[in-house]
Amino acid sequence: MNEKIHCLIIGSGPAGYTAAIYAARAGLKPIMYTGLQQGGQLMNTTDVENYPGYPKGILGPEMMNDFKEQAERFGTDIRFGMATKVQFNEHPPHKVWIDDTIELEADAVILATGAEAKWLGLDSEKRLNGSGVSACAVCDGFFYKNQEVAIVGAGDTAAEEALYLSKICSTVHMIVRRDVMRASKVMQERVLATPNIKVYWNSQTDEILGEHVVEAVRIKNCNTHEKTEIPVKGFFVAIGHKPNSDVFKEYIHTDDQGYVITVPGSTETNVEGVFACGDLQDKVYRQAVTAAGTGCMAALETERYLSAKEHVPHVEATGSLSK
Ligand code: NDP
Repeated sequence: MNEKIHCLIIGSGPAGYTAAIYAARAGLKPIMYTGLQQGGQLMNTTDVENYPGYPKGILGPEMMNDFKEQAERFGTDIRFGMATKVQFNEHPPHKVWIDDTIELEADAVILATGAEAKWLGLDSEKRLNGSGVSACAVCDGFFYKNQEVAIVGAGDTAAEEALYLSKICSTVHMIVRRDVMRASKVMQERVLATPNIKVYWNSQTDEILGEHVVEAVRIKNCNTHEKTEIPVKGFFVAIGHKPNSDVFKEYIHTDDQGYVITVPGSTETNVEGVFACGDLQDKVYRQAVTAAGTGCMAALETERYLSAKEHVPHVEATGSLSK
């Protein structure tokens, strides 16, 4: 039998938990399915120093635990499970299957499944993740104040992060695999005009070196195959992100990279009663605090949507009024 849910939240990062706190306090009795990694991307982060309210900083997993406790305090029903299939109808209720078995029917759905950083796929990158290897310069750049770091990638994210790092670190070694950058012209110009960003064209990362922490990066020139070791303390990967939108794509409009498209200034999607927040729909800022902000928006919009529905009888296509 289908379980009927008033407000379903899919995903448990800062966006999902914030949506849950607001939805629960508004009396929507939200049910959250966490996905495989309860807490999302922050569970792989060490110190978070830029989230307001934690003046001494906090570990990512601890922060997510605080979010969870706060959502539970107001009655969010938090359950472990993955949304594996959806059927979003023209009007709610919308159907969602959890782990291919549990079938739910929801009056409103908040999508907060986040995004994942793309990685190079090197063993050393995995081994030293959190010990010098990072996919977020804004989160971790500060730990390398006045030190040398490397960044790989040549899109807008890499350019933006290289510029950010150049203000904190002594030298930023930027590893670009082709002889051109994908980043917008203005960003490229800024990168190339920054004296402490050194660009290595036609270069691939061969290995990240260091036993317990990053000590250097070895790069290989794609044309000459010459290898060079650069001593660095931090290694930033900025080769793109993948939003976790595959399961919704049949119904929800996404852009060419898979980010959910929302109505500007809101979290509404193209489907009535389905809202999207956090990194799933944000390819520009991708911060815990901005994800939390859009999570709040999603819950407020859901609350308005559900209360409007309760007060206005639904007009069927035939023109007759239904309850
Ligand atoms: P992109 O996909 O645009 O760029 C990825 C970059 O990483 C490319 O330069 C690519 O190289 C490189 N790359 C991919 N795989 C590898 C690899 N295995 N080894 C080395 N290099 C690799 O991702 P972004 O995150 O930069 O941007 C995503 C979107 O978000 C873009 O549309 C961008 O414009 C937008 N954005 C906008 C911002 C803004 O408006 N302020 C800020 C940040 C992003 P190659 O070019 O050779 O394929």
